[in-house]
This record gives sequence, C-alpha cells and structure tokens, in this order.
Amino acid sequence: MDDQDSQRRVVIIGGGFAGLFAARMLRRAPVRVTLIDRRPHHLFQPLLYQCSTGILSEGKIAVPLRDLLRKHKNADFVLAEVTGIDTEGRRVLATRPLGDQLEFGYDYLIVAAGVQQSYFGHDEFAQWAPGMKTIEHALVIRRRVFGAFELADTAVDPAERSRWLTFALVGAGPTGVELAGQIREVATKTLRAEYRHIKPEDARVLLFDGGNAPLAPFGPELSAKAARTLAKLGVEQHMHSIVTDIDATGLSVRAQDGTVTRHEAGTVLWTAGVAAPPVAAAIAAATGAKQDRAGRIMVGDDCTIPDHPEIFVTGDVMSLNKLPGVCEVAMQTGIYAGERIKHEVTGHMPTKPFRYHDLGSAAYLSRGRAVVSVGRVHLSGFLAWVIWLFIHISFLTGFRNRLGALVSWWPAFVRDVRRERTYTTEQVGLVHSAYDVLPPSASGTEPSATSTEPSSRAG
Ligand SMILES: Cc1cc2nc3c(=O)[nH]c(=O)nc-3n(C[C@H](O)[C@H](O)[C@H](O)COP(=O)(O)OP(=O)(O)OC[C@H]3O[C@@H](n4cnc5c(N)ncnc54)[C@H](O)[C@@H]3O)c2cc1C
Repeated sequence: MDDQDSQRRVVIIGGGFAGLFAARMLRRAPVRVTLIDRRPHHLFQPLLYQCSTGILSEGKIAVPLRDLLRKHKNADFVLAEVTGIDTEGRRVLATRPLGDQLEFGYDYLIVAAGVQQSYFGHDEFAQWAPGMKTIEHALVIRRRVFGAFELADTAVDPAERSRWLTFALVGAGPTGVELAGQIREVATKTLRAEYRHIKPEDARVLLFDGGNAPLAPFGPELSAKAARTLAKLGVEQHMHSIVTDIDATGLSVRAQDGTVTRHEAGTVLWTAGVAAPPVAAAIAAATGAKQDRAGRIMVGDDCTIPDHPEIFVTGDVMSLNKLPGVCEVAMQTGIYAGERIKHEVTGHMPTKPFRYHDLGSAAYLSRGRAVVSVGRVHLSGFLAWVIWLFIHISFLTGFRNRLGALVSWWPAFVRDVRRERTYTTEQVGLVHSAYDVLPPSASGTEPSATSTEPSSRAG
C-alpha cells in the first residue's frame, strides 16, 4: 500500500465558490481530493448579467476546473452529476455524461452543490422566462435580448414591433436590477445608431416584484436611491406585483388590490427565487438531515449534518442561522470545511465553530453607479461603483480573467461598446449530445434554418 492509498479520501460535490475554496484549503493536506461537478467550469455568477448583455465573454467569467486544479497534486476532477450518497458504505453515487453510473468512496464529504432557480411551483414558466444561474442561461438571455431587437426591426405590425421592444423582468433583487439597467443601456447607448427601422431607445423595460422596493435587502436608503437611478434609466418599476402567468407573448400580473393586468412582452426573464438542487433532497434522505423551505440542508454550527461529523454542507445549499446566499458565505464555509478536515487528519485540535464575517454587499446599477452596504456604511453613486469594480476584479478567478475583464470593461464603460454580442441559434443540450449528433456534412443534411433553442433548464 503506497502513501496515497493510506490517505483519507475527501469528495467535494460542486466546484463553485464553496467547493473550490475547500479544495484550495486542502491543497497541502495529506488527503486525496475528488471534486465532482456536472459542469466543467467554475463560474463567477455575479457577472453573468454582463455576459448576457454583451460586455464579457463566457470565457471571462467561467474557468475550467481542471485548469484551476492543475497545481493541486492531491486533487482530481470528475465531470459527472451526483445523484445520491450511501452513508453506510460511505460512497457518493454519480452519473457520467454518457449515462453510466460511477461511485466514489469517501472518508469526508463536502456538499457544495449551490442552488438553482425556483419558479415558486410554476416550473412551466421556465420555457418562456429563462432564469439566470448558469452560462447556458446567460447565453439564452443574450440571444433573446439582442434577437428581440432584430425581430422588432423586421416586424411589419406595430403591435408586434412594440412587443419585441418590451422586456419584462421578474424579481427586483440585485440580478433583476442589474439586468434591467443593462438592457436600457443596451437600448439607449450601444444599439442607438445601428437600426434603420426602429429606435432601440423606444425599448421598454418593466421590472416586477412582490415586495415594496427594488434591492430591499440593502435597506430603505439605498433601495430608494436604486429606485431613483432605475427610473432615470427608464426602467418602469412595478412593485407589489405578483406574476400569475407567463406565455410566449407576455405575462399577467396581479397588483395589491387584486386586479390582474396583462403585459405584452417579447422577452420575459426570471430572476426571482432559489431552491436547492435535487441532490440536496437525496442527501437529506440518506442522512436524516432537515431541509429548510427552499430545500437547503440544515447543519450545526460546525457546518456538518447532525450525527454525520464526516459530512459538511457549505455555500448556498447550506442552511445555517439564516446566512444569505452570497459568495462570501460560500468561500468562508468552504475554507472552514477544508480547514477542519485538515486539522482532523493531522491530529490537531478541533477547529472552532463556524463564524461568518460579513464583508458587505454591492450591486451595479448602471455605468458609474452602484450601491454598496458594509455594516453601517451605505454608499451609492460613483464611489460605490469604484468599490464595486475593485471587489469584482479582486474576486474574479484567474489572473488572465481579471486582465481580460478590465480590457473588456474599458470600451464598454468609456464608449458603450459591447463586443461580446455573438449568439448562435443551434445548441447542444448536454456534453454527450456533442458526440451524438453527426456534423451536417457527414449526415448529408442541411443545418436547420429554425432556431432550436432548448427550453431553459433551472440550475
Ligand atoms: C446572477 C447572480 C448574481 C449574483 N451576484 C452576487 C453578488 O453580486 N455578490 C455575491 O456575494 N453573490 C452573488 N451571487 C450569489 C453567489 O454567486 C453564490 O452565493 C455563490 O456562487 C454560491 O457558491 P456555491 O459554491 O455555494 O454554489 P455555486 O457557485 O452555485 O456552485 C455549485 C456547483 O455545484 C454544481 N452542482 C450542483 N449540483 C450538482 C450535482 N448534483 N452534481 C455535481 N455538481 C453539482 C454546479 O454545477 C456548480 O458548479 C449571485 C448569484 C447569481 C446567480
């Protein structure tokens, strides 16, 4: 038996912030790490909206996990979807992209599977209103946003043209607010001189939310400032509004007084609500762990499942003391789990309970405007925007990506130029589909002229 075989095995489910930071913490520990993710990349979700509105390419916000782990001699990456665990046999059960089953033995398990979009029991909305969680979502949104202006340009019927020039967003949290502002900037700045039959600046952006203000978690002062900035940008805000139906041509919304109004909109985007991914329910069932209303796994203050000190749950999929689903919580819990395992295998004193250090939050409103909240300090406007820029550059994974983002931001912020507007109309669904389909020349068929946009997948 060589050294490696005697080492304890750590399996990490998910290569987001929590999983990646746990792997980093274990880099020099005497353990064998297997990181399993159903996607080949680590994604910087906070900049998805910039990918979907043509500022950043997908490569700038998503880095191959293999690349990130190449210097971790004790770590291996596996592209597979975890479906469950066997606690008695200490095995993680997963499915390869080609469909066959895989198993991974573990001594420690770190669950870092994040969350997915929730349509609050209306999953049928997903086909009309893509969410905003993955690169696939961002590219679908890019295609829909820029495609809508094309369809408006060639529409003969004024009602149809106006429908394509109407964009509805559901959810006025940071993602909805950021996207709404960006679409107005695309319409009024980037595209303003490019069309001959429409005025892109006529585009209407409607923002719906059941609460009473956009960016409510930032507090009343910053929330009011955000509402004013959005109004100046031309975003029409419909608060106290519950979306009751979405279809191919628009949505219906119920106001506080119970009246339901229909809005015609060619593009509807969904940025409200999250739910734990299916693997969370499988792990809860196998371990007897409790789940909160969103399906997140409830843990003790050492981030482990009660009676399972070998299973850590970290990041967005963890439920502990109502901590928010933000990058900082994910990074800090990932580091904590990694550190705790490192201490245990090296025989050091057990680590203290997990303590979250809140470093604040920031949201982008428009070029030169953001809001930042750190403890009692609440900032808005240009200074907040500079802080936003600094935070996002520092946390963007990989030096090349940081440099690349700065290079892309320069023309976008200075001259309203968005260079990443390319979209395709044919897509593969899963990685194995890329091998299933023969290229058109080999199969003797022409590529289809119609768009084959897949229905949106949550998470
Ligand atoms: C659009 C958007 C904007 C955001 N903006 C901000 C912001 O400005 N500031 C901030 O702090 N936070 C922001 N967040 C939240 C932040 O991105 C998350 O809190 C953070 O990414 C959580 O990290 P995580 O590691 O828990 O999960 P994730 O980063 O979601 O990673 C989970 C990983 O698990 C994988 N996975 C899931 N299920 C399985 C399975 N069954 N098998 C294998 N792999 C699986 C997924 O593919 C994924 O790679 C934003 C989120 C979104 C969606």
